[in-house]
Amino acid sequence: MQDTRKFYINGEWVAPKAGADLDVINPSTEEVCATISLGGKADADAAIAAAKAAFPDWSRTSRDERLALMEKILDVYMARSDEMGETISREMGAPIVLSRAAQAGTGSAHIKAFIRALKAFEFERDLRPNTPNDKIIYEPIGVCGLITPWNWPMNQIALKVMPALATGCTMILKPSELSPLSGMLFADILHEAGVPAGVFNLVNGDGPGVGTTLSGHKDVDMISFTGSTRAGSAITKNAADSVKRVSLELGGKGANLVFADAAQDAVQQGVARCFNNTGQSCNAPTRMLVERSRYDEAVEQAKEQAAKTVVDLASKEGRHIGPLVSQMQFDKVQNLIEVGIKEDNARLIAGGLGRPEGLNRGYFVRPTVFADCHNDMRIMREEIFGPVLSMMPFDSEEEAIEIANDTDYGLTNYIQTSDGEKANRVARQLRSGMVDINGQARSSGSPFGGYKQSGNGREGGEWGLEEFLEVKAVGGWFPDAP
Ligand code: NAD
Repeated sequence: MQDTRKFYINGEWVAPKAGADLDVINPSTEEVCATISLGGKADADAAIAAAKAAFPDWSRTSRDERLALMEKILDVYMARSDEMGETISREMGAPIVLSRAAQAGTGSAHIKAFIRALKAFEFERDLRPNTPNDKIIYEPIGVCGLITPWNWPMNQIALKVMPALATGCTMILKPSELSPLSGMLFADILHEAGVPAGVFNLVNGDGPGVGTTLSGHKDVDMISFTGSTRAGSAITKNAADSVKRVSLELGGKGANLVFADAAQDAVQQGVARCFNNTGQSCNAPTRMLVERSRYDEAVEQAKEQAAKTVVDLASKEGRHIGPLVSQMQFDKVQNLIEVGIKEDNARLIAGGLGRPEGLNRGYFVRPTVFADCHNDMRIMREEIFGPVLSMMPFDSEEEAIEIANDTDYGLTNYIQTSDGEKANRVARQLRSGMVDINGQARSSGSPFGGYKQSGNGREGGEWGLEEFLEVKAVGGWFPDAP
């Protein structure tokens, strides 16, 4: 990889104009694994100018030219996929098996899915079959600022960079300062694949610095942001004066509705899903609601599953969970576990405060389960972002839906039942952008995004392309002219 203090601007790695050093910490060892620069306004301005200058040519490329480039990106990405897995594991602590397969794997999956979506997308269509003089034309929105988090770094980067490229936009990526190395590796991949100078730029930095310059800049036409609801709200306010489009993918507090007729292993699967990636997923099912007739059994199953969950170094092979990303995240999760015990008075049935036995360094926490929660407890309302599950019983379908919807968030909810009619009926009533029935994964190209404070964007597939497009309506179109 390049000198990690540099930024990728206008097709080359350049020294920062206003960089302050920031160490990237390996969360398993608490040791420095790289040093990056936090850019300033001058660095962001240079990247924005490069993206603006590249837009006229790039926006006029043909679909076939862009497809050929995306295929090339896929080839280079596949060749470097293991390197990507190792980089992500080192910078944010995902266990190496998960990191190679799922973390790096989401990158290639999204590249493939956007190649497919671009092939099928109709950039020009008639308004209706009987309106030949009304043409609807989709055009790239322009210069895009892409701001991403650390928890699924390549997933978020690919979900933004690929549709921006596919639609003819130019861009500046600001990856999370906690996980910048995967973004820098991705910049190398794009360079090797031959992305033209200025089309893709990367500047490292933090929210108050580069992030704020991007969101407030008059030459940035759109911000695509994934991260916390707090930052999403700040970005929206800062972007308001320049009236740019702001697409937000924010936090979640997903409910998992386990009905009495759910599969025998539904609870174990739900716990595992909550703890996956050490609980650091926006769509984690962190509130488990169980029909009362099955509740006591579910509590025992969850307790066993948590006790079986191994915590270990990210660099070790195996199906364990790793550390949290940072000291700050560790402190936040410890604090909320303490709130669960002391303030909320929930029944702690697994885990608790402190590190797991045998791990004295690194941001490791104990897989934790609280039972007998109420939906007004802080641990039921706040996004904890660690391996912490909160459980409560319900008595009727209506009550389960009411509890599930009683949250500021609305990203993903989960339903476990063998009754198809009930599953579909409940899915229709859940106020969330996504619903997962009986653990069946949604197919690629399905839109990812939330209701309420989980955001307003939809990433993936044709919806993911539309995010980066303007819609032009033309009247008086000559249908027979080319
Ligand atoms: P964060 O909001 O702290 O940071 C995310 C990114 O925003 C980082 O690059 C950060 O530097 C930048 N940033 C922070 N403040 C900013 C500001 N004022 N202006 C501009 N940029 C700013 O979030 P995080 O801790 O990195 O990520 C975890 C959060 O992301 C969780 O809330 C999680 O639910 C959410 N998330 C959502 C999705 C989704 O698709 N809905 C996916 C993954 C993560």
